[in-house]
Amino acid sequence: MQKAQCDNTSANKAPRVDRRVWGDEDEIVAAAIDYACRRILQAPDPVAGARPAADLALAAGTAIAPWGIGGAAALNLFDRVLAPATRAQNGTMNLAYIPAAPTRAALAFDAVTSAANIFAGTWEAGAGAIHAENEALAWLTQLLGWPSTAAGCFVSGGTMGNLSALITARAAAAASRPRPTDGWKIVCADSAHSSIRSAAQAMDVAVVTAPLDQRGHLTGSAVNAILDSTTGVFAVVATAGTTNAGLIDDLDDIAEACERHQVWLHVDGAYGGAGLAAPSVRHLYSGVERADSFIVDPHKWLFAPYDCCALLYRDPAAARAAHSQSAHYLDAIDRDVHNPADLALHLSRRARGLPLWFSLAVHGTKRYSRAVEQTLTTSRLVAAAVRASDYLRLTIEPELSVVLFERPGWGPHDYASWSARAAETGAMLCVPTQWNGATVLRLAFVNPDTRASDVIDTLRTLRTLR
Ligand SMILES: *Cc1c(COP(=O)(O)O)cnc(C)c1O
Repeated sequence: MQKAQCDNTSANKAPRVDRRVWGDEDEIVAAAIDYACRRILQAPDPVAGARPAADLALAAGTAIAPWGIGGAAALNLFDRVLAPATRAQNGTMNLAYIPAAPTRAALAFDAVTSAANIFAGTWEAGAGAIHAENEALAWLTQLLGWPSTAAGCFVSGGTMGNLSALITARAAAAASRPRPTDGWKIVCADSAHSSIRSAAQAMDVAVVTAPLDQRGHLTGSAVNAILDSTTGVFAVVATAGTTNAGLIDDLDDIAEACERHQVWLHVDGAYGGAGLAAPSVRHLYSGVERADSFIVDPHKWLFAPYDCCALLYRDPAAARAAHSQSAHYLDAIDRDVHNPADLALHLSRRARGLPLWFSLAVHGTKRYSRAVEQTLTTSRLVAAAVRASDYLRLTIEPELSVVLFERPGWGPHDYASWSARAAETGAMLCVPTQWNGATVLRLAFVNPDTRASDVIDTLRTLRTLR
């Protein structure tokens, strides 16, 4: 293992802690950081991926032993066996599910964030980090067209963001009216993310499913009809960028319906919220300025690493009322300052918004807009190639960066085997989904380095191969 490289840095002029139990860890620290550096800069392996559990267990052997296997062996095990058994989310041809394409600056700063080990639950312990996180949140607030009094925090993912927002919405409703005899209800469309149903289940509330229109959008009139005839609805969830098809619900009309009925509007932009930064699609989000809460996952389309969801409230008072935890040992905490712990279902938290903050600071918001636009351009070029081809069919017109298309004449089995072959060779990760009951192929673009021409070339294999 190489010699520790951080011996002469200014940080090390500070007195060092006594290492009574752990002994000297200098070498392993240097080796791990050096490994992280190489890993951030190198192109990911496109064929890396899961392997059967028994197979993996055999290859990995035993790492946790009474006196440790040592840094070199543990790092080597991660590098040779464990990391290759994970999918490279930032591969340029990983277009399955919703991949991730963090900037290298964001990845590096994630390591810095870990090194600083900040408790970012309360202002008192994490002020500097929280200030920076809030600056990143303020950029989102501005994109939303919300007042600067809006506030929020970063949570682990969209699932936690949705749950926290809905808990706040219910607490706000419960503060002003008695619990309905048949219980509280959430209204959302079938196209809403599965995490909304999960949240409803965790909260023991019912979900009323609103119908979609022909274009696959939740509309204001559908929401109105339900709110007119249903009691006990405390929140409507609209999606700004459905996960399956990248469609944006009719936010303005839905906001109108919610205002008329005085019901909380939560907008789930976990994937699609990033499009707020792209002038070419910004108009599709019109009405989002009227929402009460909003989430976006920077780990999806805003170039931050896992795990990171920005949760925002137009008026954070309701969130504080719903989420502040109290205990005698927390009595000393100042509740009049910005405590991220008071705004979601969490207490201890890492400053997971810092990698986004750093990357925004490094690259600037204009470059962020350009990066999102770049992925939109890529999806439009691919959609155009599909439209022009005589053996493929575009399933729906894309609104954001998800492209659904078909190979007429093929069935589920054909799609599955084509998809498996493309993954095996590392050519492309593209998995089938369902649209209106039929199997179709789906591409999700979040990586500005993906080249449309590479994707179009790979799609040519759909003409013959199966
Ligand atoms: C991905 C996604 C979620 C869930 O986010 P996680 O970070 O995976 O928990 C919620 N809503 C939408 C629309 C999503 O695309």
